[in-house]
Amino acid sequence: MKLSLVVPCYNEQDNVELFYEETVKAFNNAGFDYEFVFVNDGSRDKTLEKLRKLYNEKTESNITVVSFSRNFGKESAIYAGIKNSTGDYISLIDADLQQRPEVVLEMMGILENEYEYDCVAAYQASRKEGSVMTGFKSGFYKVINKLSEVELHADASDFRTFTRGVADAILEMGEYHRFSKGIFSWIGFNTKFIPYEVQERNAGETKWSFTKLVKYALEGITAFSTKPLKLATYVGMLASLAAIVYLIVVIVQRMFFNVAVSGYATIVGLILLLGGIQLFCIGIIGSYLAKTYIQSKNRPIYIAKEILKRDK
Ligand code: UDP
Ligand code: MG
Repeated sequence: MKLSLVVPCYNEQDNVELFYEETVKAFNNAGFDYEFVFVNDGSRDKTLEKLRKLYNEKTESNITVVSFSRNFGKESAIYAGIKNSTGDYISLIDADLQQRPEVVLEMMGILENEYEYDCVAAYQASRKEGSVMTGFKSGFYKVINKLSEVELHADASDFRTFTRGVADAILEMGEYHRFSKGIFSWIGFNTKFIPYEVQERNAGETKWSFTKLVKYALEGITAFSTKPLKLATYVGMLASLAAIVYLIVVIVQRMFFNVAVSGYATIVGLILLLGGIQLFCIGIIGSYLAKTYIQSKNRPIYIAKEILKRDK
């Protein structure tokens, strides 16, 4: 039995070696075979050099290095890593040591002993972020769980271990705009969620900013729900209803009470409001259309410039 560790790396020059050492230490008595599948996601620092060094020097370990032609993003790196993995089990783990390799052993224990589970996902036992961020994230999960057909576990990360069957299902999801939390939920299978203590980043810095997170959240919603597209219908129906009621009121006022209805401000206000709503709805349609457009080009999810792999 073999486990593949899929490790996406983007500008992780000061982490990859330590990650390797720590993992080898943790897996010393694991009792199963394992391989590393590092994916260099177009790093601009010395990550690739460090990975090459590991590949050339640590010949006792089973190491594969997939190197992208540019930065394609973590989602693409995960896809490429799974594609190049050969294990019976696959584990997704970050290179920055925020996720301890010891937790992978715990996950493996569950998969091997509790046959009903196909996947073990770790969620952060306690978030180490500010209250604004925590509030934003929990708000996002509420919205997406309401809107979409997939059920997302709040706090669950990409840190997971799963069977080859799950991996094959993920590879079958060939969509260009990848939102892995949604993909994991959509494919089904039985997932066990376990808590883990997220560590401080070993070196370097996170690639996530607040604006990037907002964009990612919107990606997630459009990727797994088409409900926003129906928003225009509902808003339109509401506006028409309000207009009919208002018209009746105006007619009655004019015919029976002889009130001359004036209202420059109201007219201007309503035009602006309705114009705004229309543009907003067109924007929503536009963002779906853009996704359809990109997907219709059928571009590859990633382009590998170089793959270091030994035949075993
Ligand atoms: N990562 C990647 N491509 C990117 C951004 C990030 O492969 O475009 C990798 C990164 O090297 C790390 C993992 O994804 O191994 C998680 O990234 P990060 O630590 O920045 O995210 P955080 O832990 O802060 O959520
Ligand atoms: Mg991290």
